[in-house]
Parts: sequence; structure tokens; C-alpha cells
Amino acid sequence: MMKMYSEADVDSSSLAAKQVTILGYGSQGRAHALNLRDSGFDVVVGLRRDGASWAKAEADGLRVMEPAAAVENASIIAFLTPDMVQRQLYESVQTQIPQGAALLFAHGFAIHFKLIEPRSDLDVVLIAPKGPGGLVRRQYEEGHGVPCLVAIHQDASGEALALALAYSAGIGGARAGVIETTFAEETETDLFGEQAVLCGGATELIVAGFETLVDAGYQPEVAYYEVMHEMKLIVDLLHEGGLKKMHEFISDTAAYGDMVSGPRVVDEHARKKMKEILSDIRDGTFARNWIAENEAGMPEFRRMMEADLEHPIETVGTDLRGRMDWLTG
Ligand code: NAD
Ligand code: MG
Repeated sequence: MMKMYSEADVDSSSLAAKQVTILGYGSQGRAHALNLRDSGFDVVVGLRRDGASWAKAEADGLRVMEPAAAVENASIIAFLTPDMVQRQLYESVQTQIPQGAALLFAHGFAIHFKLIEPRSDLDVVLIAPKGPGGLVRRQYEEGHGVPCLVAIHQDASGEALALALAYSAGIGGARAGVIETTFAEETETDLFGEQAVLCGGATELIVAGFETLVDAGYQPEVAYYEVMHEMKLIVDLLHEGGLKKMHEFISDTAAYGDMVSGPRVVDEHARKKMKEILSDIRDGTFARNWIAENEAGMPEFRRMMEADLEHPIETVGTDLRGRMDWLTG
């Protein structure tokens, strides 16, 4: 049974008078730090002194320290650096983390795949906003919030859930609802979503559609509008009102074509591949490969990224987008 918490379930006193340390000041780190501060909590940001984010966090009026000093008096420590640097960061501050503190993650990767095996005196919780940091900040400022997932990996204090919910309320998430999950469910579904559907699936679908049209002799500019530019209109309808809203807004011809042709593209073969991707995530194959790629200095990552960005759809797209001054880049 799905369990969802709202602001009425939150006892913010569990965070009051406690220092919250945010490690990292990127997409999520900046949003969490500013929202928690504006909610009245005592926030410290932990960053490398030579890093690019230090000046930014200071300019935002936050207290900034090196990671080891930042965790020294913390009751709750949020690991909001890239997943792949969390292990080394934990190891470097481990001896400074006070007895009985709580570690908080916005994605379960490092804990679920055992890159970090936290001391047994620590609470280990997850508050994963279902949206990028910019949105987490903007929704908060407008009086709303981005929904979150909550999970408890280790409950040393017996107060881990109360603490996690207080944090989720501090960043605005409890206004929109906080769904209970596990580190395993959050990590596996998040990785699957971004690989098979959101990032990997959607972009390959766009590029394959573009290549199909261009190979058949159609103009690349026309192909670009059809398969890339118009994607946003459809995604906005889905986001706002699901399949029903999309069907209300598209033509009958588009709806008929959707229903007869969609399943021909995403067919049994594609579903079988989705199951393989999920299985690679669940048995740790993907995590092992990604960790090895990091350790090797990311040569494949860079090669594939270059190939992505050199695709003709990018050349055509850059040119066409430059002519649409209403697009905010
Ligand atoms: P990011 O790449 O935007 O920011 C990383 C920050 O960490 C930067 O401020 C960088 O300077 C800092 N940093 C890097 N190495 C460091 C080190 N050794 N010591 C201290 N600071 C260091 O990261 P992000 O996208 O906000 O991701 C943070 C966490 O949030 C990840 O676990 C990610 O999976 C999760 N998450 C991200 C999103 C998203 O939309 N970006 C959504 C949900 C969850
Ligand atoms: Mg995600």
C-alpha cells in the first residue's frame, strides 16, 4: 500500500536548533540549502575551497566551510555532490562526523550499491525530490513544492523518519506530498527511468526518427521541427493531464496514428530490451560499469558524449533555435 506524508505529518521541531550541513552546491545542493535557510533552519554548506561553487554559496549569503569543518557540528549531513564522488567524500570526513548524526541522500546510488557503508551509530535517510534543483527552489519560492520520496536505510536514533520528514518540509516537498519508498526502489526505478524512458529512450527515439526522415530525403530542418521541437508540446500535455489531456488536444488523425503505430515502434523487442536494462540495474552490472568508467577517467563517457553532440540534429537544431528568440536557453 502506498504511504504518502503531508505537512500535517511533519514535526519540524526535530530539526530545530540543529545544524544542517549541505555538501555540494550544484543543482540540488543550492536549492536545499536556500530553502532550508528560508524555512528558518541553521544551514552550513561544505565545499572544497578551490571549487567553483564556494563563491556562489557565499554570494547567496550562506555559511561555507571545507567539508571536514562543515560536518563537525552537524546533526544532519546531506550528500548533494555527484554520486560518484560521495564515497571519497564520506571517507574524507568520516572521522569528523559526530556520533548519532544523520546522513541524507537525494538519490540512493551510493548507499544501495554499497559505495558507502555508514557507521552503525548514524541515521541514513533519503529525501529524493522528483525534479531538478532549479524547480525545487522556484516552487518553494512560489509557495509550492516538488514532491519527494522518503526512505530509511538505517534508523540508529529511532527518529530517522521524523528527521527526514522535517527536512522534506524544509525544502518544500511536504507541501506536494512525500511518498514512502526504499533505497532499492528509488535507486532502481530512478536509473531505469532515466535510461530507458526519459533521457536514453526519448533521445534515441528522437534521433532515430530524425535519421529515418532525413535518409528518406526530407529536409533536416523540417525533420527537426517534427521530431525534436514539437516533443515539448506533447510532453507538457502529458505532464499536466496524462494521456487524456494529450488526446483532447491532438487531432483525431494524430490520435489514430498514435494508437496504431506507437506499439509498432515500442514493440515486444523494445520491451524485452527494457527488461534487460532493468536486470542490469538490479544485479549491479550498470553500477559496476559506471564505477569502472569513472575510475578509468571516463574515456567512453567522453567519446559517446562527443558523438551525441556532433550529430547533425544538433547542427540543424542550433541554427533553428537561434531564430526562435522566444525560446529561453
Ligand atoms: P551537481 O553536479 O549539480 O552538483 C555537484 C556539487 O558538488 C557541485 O557544487 C560541486 O562543486 C560539488 N562537489 C563535487 N565534488 C566535490 C567534493 N569532492 N567535495 C565537495 N563538493 C564537491 O549535482 P546534482 O545533480 O545536484 O546531484 C546531487 C545529488 O542529487 C546526486 O546524488 C543526484 O543523483 C541527486 N539528484 C539530482 C537531481 C537533479 O535533477 N540534478 C534530481 C534528484 C536527485
Ligand atoms: Mg531522477
